Amino acid sequence: MSFTMSFRTGKDGELVFGERPQYREEFLKKVYGGSLNITAELGEMFTDFISIEGDIATSNHPFIQAAGDTCEGITSDSHFLVQLREYIDLGIENKNFFEESCFMFFLESQNLHLPAMLYTPVIKEGQEDACVEDFVEDNKDMSPLEKMMRGYVAAKDKIYDVPLTTYECETVEDACIASLHFLITHDCNILKCQNCGKYFISARSDTKYCDRISPFNKRTTCKKDGPQRAHKDNVKADELKKAVKLKKNKLYMRTFRNQDNLDLDRYYQCFLNNVKEKQNLLNSGAITTEQFMAWLEEQ
Ligand SMILES: [Zn+2]
Repeated sequence: MSFTMSFRTGKDGELVFGERPQYREEFLKKVYGGSLNITAELGEMFTDFISIEGDIATSNHPFIQAAGDTCEGITSDSHFLVQLREYIDLGIENKNFFEESCFMFFLESQNLHLPAMLYTPVIKEGQEDACVEDFVEDNKDMSPLEKMMRGYVAAKDKIYDVPLTTYECETVEDACIASLHFLITHDCNILKCQNCGKYFISARSDTKYCDRISPFNKRTTCKKDGPQRAHKDNVKADELKKAVKLKKNKLYMRTFRNQDNLDLDRYYQCFLNNVKEKQNLLNSGAITTEQFMAWLEEQ
């Protein structure tokens, strides 16, 4: 094993000043061959990793640091990543694909497998010396195992915190599979930001934007920039529709008033075809709204 990925999510069983801490965290640990100890928000490393474009191998991403030589030559176009992103996109559209058995089928189809997994109980701070047996009254009829198990049930919330799930990883593929397995088996929503197009995790399934810096405005996040830009786009689209309608009416009226002028009618028919073509170019991103408006102005 070269490194571990550990995750935990959920609430502590015991009330702490009326509030139960909510854990959503992950850890990457490497002991041999350059030690690493990275803590992040649940799913953060994975969603950042699959959102990288281009030459991943030279990025400083924790998975690359941890997997070292095993990931030489990996790019965002590597077969595994292309297949993985497609699977995730399918899952975002249709939650059935994120069922555990479906995920296992996907791994099988790709000749991949789940890394070895451990479930580690976490003892609360200050409870290191606690003994579960102390929480059960002495009873000679109880076997040591029964006493221990009864003690655990009685004391688990006092002694133990939310447990860690740890996967033993060798490669970048292992780190991705471990992350995705934990996320889909713990009801985490994997989403795609509608502003920057990168993947992110949210406690809610209807979140549209991530918390990254917006690629369109370095001073703000997608969460703030996204809705504003979407609004602006809507306003722009409305203005555009109006301008097209106005021009259409104008050209039509000119043709209507001069019915004996066949050139005008031909021009109008030609315009109708061209406007459709230009609108397709605009929708595909081949031309900008400004270019479209300038063309419309000339007609
Ligand atoms: Zn974003």
